[in-house]
Amino acid sequence: MALFAVSASGDQPAFAFPVDCRIGESCLIQKLVDHDPGPGRSDYRCGTLTTDGHDGIDIRLRTMADMRAGYAVLAARDGLVLRTRDGESDISVTERTAPADKQAGNGLVIDHGNGWETQYSHLQRGSVAVRPGQRVAAGERIGLIGLSGNSEFPHLHFAIRHRGQPIDPFTGGAADASCAAAGASSGLWTPAAALQLGYRPTAVIAAGLASAVPAKAVTGRDPSPRLAGRDAPLILWVDAMGAKSGDRQTFAIAGPDRGIVHSQESVVAGGGLSWFAYSGKRAPPGGWPAGQYSGRYILRRGPDIVAEFDVEGVIE
Ligand SMILES: [Zn+2]
Repeated sequence: MALFAVSASGDQPAFAFPVDCRIGESCLIQKLVDHDPGPGRSDYRCGTLTTDGHDGIDIRLRTMADMRAGYAVLAARDGLVLRTRDGESDISVTERTAPADKQAGNGLVIDHGNGWETQYSHLQRGSVAVRPGQRVAAGERIGLIGLSGNSEFPHLHFAIRHRGQPIDPFTGGAADASCAAAGASSGLWTPAAALQLGYRPTAVIAAGLASAVPAKAVTGRDPSPRLAGRDAPLILWVDAMGAKSGDRQTFAIAGPDRGIVHSQESVVAGGGLSWFAYSGKRAPPGGWPAGQYSGRYILRRGPDIVAEFDVEGVIE
């Protein structure tokens, strides 16, 4: 098995984080590079934050509203733009199959010299800000995070290749290297990028209070602080990643007087890379009291809280 296709002796380039966002705040790492050469999946830490054959990292936004607000995709390193594509719609694959030859959607490839390339995929239609043959500097804005191509949620698929071979920026090694070979180095990231790129396999992506069961597709689930009314149901929903079978989740909703109006604890049955769950109840006779409601979701593994999230909503 090839362990490290490229030596880590200092001749490797460093790459900056390619999105103008803060990990754990405005964006999350949803998938890493798959290190399992077979049909299974294994990220560089031997975890499961990847899918079979995934050759890059997925940096996702929390909501569609965030995508519309616009998060800049940045060149990870100085280089020369090789090719670009734009004009593909920002439509989820849950609504439409992406054309086979346009799975990456809108995007571009940058040549960094000595066989190194980076690719940026699923950019927003009309956002690609560079053209082939153009020189770019590290940190230069090259587009916006979008939903084009084979994408179910707004994210950037960022891939690094060396002489055509996918490289995991977290290890600096080939994507077919054993996960056990991954050391504690910062891989190919610049020190600034490495600082915010800790391994975080479990997180709440988004959550909200709602008056009806939210849409099944990620793209239909934007949180809104406005609730339908005093007689509608009150539901707390959550998009999480990395929930594991056997985790315990708690949904709690508090009313305007801070008293708990709904709570439910359950065991996660499936879990997986993406996890959508909700809990709520019908309005009581006479309706909910008007005012501000708050929801809290907690995910526990054994004695530890592995993810939690607070949201608010108003019933008028
Ligand atoms: Zn991806």
